[in-house]
Amino acid sequence: MDEIMKIGELPRAKLSSWPTPFERLTNLSKHLGGPNIFIKRDDLISLAFGGTKTRGLECVFADALAKRADTIITVCSLHGNLSTQVAAAARKLGMQAIIIARDPTGYYPPHVLDGNLLLKRILGAVIEPVTGEKNTESGRAAATERAQKIGEELKEEGRKPYLVVENNPLWAAGIANAIPELVSQSEEEDIDIGYLVHTSAYGATQAGLVLGATALETGIKVIGIANGYEPKRVVSSRIAEIANASAQLLGLNFSTSAEAITLLDDYVGEGYGTIDQFTLDTVKLVAETEGIFLDPVYTARGMLGLVNLIRTRYFKREDNVVFIHTGGLPSLFGYREPLTAMLASREPLWTKPAWIR
Ligand SMILES: *Cc1c(COP(=O)(O)O)cnc(C)c1O
Repeated sequence: MDEIMKIGELPRAKLSSWPTPFERLTNLSKHLGGPNIFIKRDDLISLAFGGTKTRGLECVFADALAKRADTIITVCSLHGNLSTQVAAAARKLGMQAIIIARDPTGYYPPHVLDGNLLLKRILGAVIEPVTGEKNTESGRAAATERAQKIGEELKEEGRKPYLVVENNPLWAAGIANAIPELVSQSEEEDIDIGYLVHTSAYGATQAGLVLGATALETGIKVIGIANGYEPKRVVSSRIAEIANASAQLLGLNFSTSAEAITLLDDYVGEGYGTIDQFTLDTVKLVAETEGIFLDPVYTARGMLGLVNLIRTRYFKREDNVVFIHTGGLPSLFGYREPLTAMLASREPLWTKPAWIR
């Protein structure tokens, strides 16, 4: 009980209505003939087409407000979900957003605005392209350098910049709020949750979920399904590091290690951001059984992992398994070219977009 208070007491800037819906996936459960599958609809978070990242941002933006920031700087890929959420949150709280966007191909400005990029442009976010991959050391260093330089320039102009980074322990602490929310919803329906399955990329989401599930002694096992963003050992260590830093920040009696993190990397296909027949089949499966859409980069990979775990009898039939729909839906439109081709049984022109290469 005390631990719930510590997680809940952290200041939050209100960016959405809570709680997000918790639903039973009756048709999908029946179709797969395995455990009872439930879904936590973080795709219905009310900020900018939703996504679990908003939970982290509520705590990070509370800190930005306390520091009287007027300009938010963040590093993200050109079509990433993070910067759409950051730009929308900044607007809602009366700030401006500058996005340092990885542009490995010199692709920006693209001729076709779609998916997240369209949304960022509508939000009027300032996009500063940098070359290089975001998820490599050199790409990250270049982007950080650019972000710091812009921050310095803004300070000289008398502005108050604030850098939003995913390894800020406030971020995972905000994500941890999903756990008491979910537990109270499951108790109302008299359901004992055994597992929580979701897609893991950088690892901040899983850090928050592990922190919440363990510190509150829920007994829920958190399973991350990697989408190939970075190697498993890198992500597992980061998850433990962030979770421990957040626990310390919250004064929670909790510590974990990379070995204790369940992160499965068997479902990454050709790597981060690639789309294949499995991705499409998974998007179609959930749409056709439940009328719910998944995105091709994150949630379809996570669901593909869950479906395979069920098919290989990882769970017991009576288990209750919750899938967190972490959002990302704008990417469905960014990927409309290969999705359309595959739906028409044609070879797609690309399976990995130019903005990720
Ligand atoms: C960012 C994101 C994730 C994964 O979160 P990480 O903290 O990067 O592991 C999962 N799903 C969606 C839709 C996301 O945007």
